[in-house]
Amino acid sequence: MKHLLLGSALLLAAASSAFAAEVPPAVPAHPPVAAGPKLVEPHLHIARSNIAGHARVALTFDACMGEADERILSTLVNERIPATIFVTARWLKRNPKAVAVFLRNPDLFELENHGEKHIPAIDKPVLVYGIPSAGSPDAVRQEVEGGAAAMLASGIPAPHWFRGSTAKYDLSAIGQIRAMGYRIAGYSINGDGGSLLGAAVTEKRISSAGDGDVVISHINQPTHAAGEGVARALVDLKAKGTEFVRLQDVADTGDDKTTE
Ligand SMILES: [Zn+2]
Repeated sequence: MKHLLLGSALLLAAASSAFAAEVPPAVPAHPPVAAGPKLVEPHLHIARSNIAGHARVALTFDACMGEADERILSTLVNERIPATIFVTARWLKRNPKAVAVFLRNPDLFELENHGEKHIPAIDKPVLVYGIPSAGSPDAVRQEVEGGAAAMLASGIPAPHWFRGSTAKYDLSAIGQIRAMGYRIAGYSINGDGGSLLGAAVTEKRISSAGDGDVVISHINQPTHAAGEGVARALVDLKAKGTEFVRLQDVADTGDDKTTE
């Protein structure tokens, strides 16, 4: 019975976060007993432009590990679309050419901290999508500080925003990271479903971004179909008159005490 309940809980958790747009929030008829820390996946919005035909949108991309997605990177550069890129120490090490492109275009790219090893910034032991969390306050601190140190070593200015692997946290880790001086970057539109969605649905999700939205997607999966949809959506949004901003350029509102 315990296994059944746990299995249902995991399924519900996976469905409600990874496919938030398709599945309404599910409430189990018999909530399982508390297993592990309460996790939140915070939302973030930016101040609206309130100008018809010029929705203001912040595009954020995670560079978790692996390679650089040239389809997205070249579109951002060629179309002169500003974006905020969250990089890990692991990704920086493997992608010096892409880092050089970011640094050559400081008017386009704000680089922020996605951690050292790409482990969830949760200070208690738990698995998120099968990934073991940092598991202690010391390990959370190391994940954040290690990410920042790698950025500085790559010639990137000191970061002011942090987004942890899986974008999930427990509240005490949020308090700890805020006390380290960071704002924590949630999002309002899950653009590419962790880079696992098809090109058409990804294009549709991102193109639907409205005034004040913060879009999360990935720039580190060049072999996934989602990236093709991301690149097309950038052109769609530009054609609609979208005002693209980076997180450092605008006021914002995050829930779960991530920015206040
Ligand atoms: Zn990531």
